[in-house]
Amino acid sequence: MKVGDHFTSYNDLQSAINEYEKENRVQFWKRDSKTLENAKNHCPKIFEKANRDLKYYIIKYSCIHGGQKFRPNKNNKSIRKHEGTLKQNCPAEINVKISDDGKSLLIKSMNINHNHEIPTEEIFKHLPKQRRLSDEHKKCVLEMMKLKINKKLLQADLVEKTGNSILLRDISNIVKNSQGKDNLQEMISILKEKYHCLIDVQTEENTFQGIFFQEEMQKCFSLFPEILFLDGTYKLLNNRCPVYVMVVENSFGTTDIVGIAIITKEDSESLGWFLNIQRKKSKVAKYKSYNDR
Ligand SMILES: [Zn+2]
Repeated sequence: MKVGDHFTSYNDLQSAINEYEKENRVQFWKRDSKTLENAKNHCPKIFEKANRDLKYYIIKYSCIHGGQKFRPNKNNKSIRKHEGTLKQNCPAEINVKISDDGKSLLIKSMNINHNHEIPTEEIFKHLPKQRRLSDEHKKCVLEMMKLKINKKLLQADLVEKTGNSILLRDISNIVKNSQGKDNLQEMISILKEKYHCLIDVQTEENTFQGIFFQEEMQKCFSLFPEILFLDGTYKLLNNRCPVYVMVVENSFGTTDIVGIAIITKEDSESLGWFLNIQRKKSKVAKYKSYNDR
């Protein structure tokens, strides 16, 4: 992979990044990105001519040891050492941008100078991201576990088939996560059938990103649309996903909930996503209440 390389789909780019990571024993994370869906509003010209398989028009990958600097809170008197964080301010990054003709993703620039030691092959193989199994292998694990196969034998088989190091814990997690998937479907049907909620689920590459739901709540918003209060709660769910509650102040001076969102990442994209839905739905609600008069 080098500057100037073109990829005609996001999947092709991602496989090239994965390949590059393996070859060089480094790992990147998507630090910043803008999807084509975002471009629809901001740069309609790009959106119009863009190849939909690209999914994004800008992606910035940073080394997992890079990214935002840790800024100590001056007001926080208790000084804690943040030893747990991976961030060592590594400058290595890969910048990807859509090409001028909108047909491909282009590697615009690369910094390949890491400011830390590169792990040995043996250690690298044990990193969580490298132990991750393909969807096909995951499916196979689930089927085998249903048949109550010996976990250790399954582990040995997977290590041989994939060449990755796979832990027993990984197998347990696959089973656990698959149960989570059913819960999401269950949760959606309860919200829909029992509470008649409006629901919007956000996914990226088949991974759950967030859910937004509201009952009759949007009516409250159309009555008191002046200020929308937003608050995140962190210790409500076992899976630690933050729960965002949107409230308005009613004429009695108390709060009415207008919408709830559960998101997995607290980045601008996720927050923007559910605020946008709220904005769109409140427009419809306002229009309706105007017509009701
Ligand atoms: Zn690095």
